[in-house]
Amino acid sequence: MLRQPGRHWALTGAGISTESGIPDYRSPGTGLWEKMDPTRVASVDALFQDPVFFYKTNLPRWAEINRAEPNIGHLALAELERQGLIQGVITQNVDSLHLKAGSKRVYEVHGHLRTGHCLECRRSFSFEEMLGQFEKGTIPPKCSCGGMIRPDVVLFGDLMGEAFHQAERVVAGCDVLLVVGTSLQVYPVAALPRYARRLVIINLMSTPYDREAEVVLHEPIGQVMADLLQTLGLEVPAAVAS
Ligand code: ZN
Repeated sequence: MLRQPGRHWALTGAGISTESGIPDYRSPGTGLWEKMDPTRVASVDALFQDPVFFYKTNLPRWAEINRAEPNIGHLALAELERQGLIQGVITQNVDSLHLKAGSKRVYEVHGHLRTGHCLECRRSFSFEEMLGQFEKGTIPPKCSCGGMIRPDVVLFGDLMGEAFHQAERVVAGCDVLLVVGTSLQVYPVAALPRYARRLVIINLMSTPYDREAEVVLHEPIGQVMADLLQTLGLEVPAAVAS
């Protein structure tokens, strides 16, 4: 399917990053939202009602996410893009791992953890600046104007940003959508596969789109992506070649 000409995109979620040591949100037993209520922790309401709690709960976890390294799944998608077999990646992840892996066209529909901005004057801050303030006891981190800094992630209760609307445009009528590591349960992103002509789903758990997909692989992503590269005659990145 990937060798046939056409517009091919990948849509990824938390499942592609678990092999980088980042817990996903909804896996039974280990998923983060099994232990915490997302609307109480990672929401706009939480940020405004109790910014100290918001930052103490989220920032250490985010700092850990920012230290993660890409795995074979991310590296393989970057290689597929370099080879022209996919055009790029739409991701729900905020971990920057597609960019770290070398993907060029990446739509981060839930934002990212590289920066934040002042809620008053909109000045931008690096994540390191926010973390530095947090570690020195300034919680929540503040701008020099006195405004509170918020991260550039899409929180529960936020509107979707420009990246999502761009993603809608590229998926509309695309020939193949590779769904990798997402159980397609969070809207509006979960609506995107409807716009693609052909679907391939690579995810440990079943998804609401499994019946409509031409290929469904409930297998570990790293292994599937390594096998895919090999089948296409491409080099499997050294990260897992052993
Ligand atoms: Zn400011």
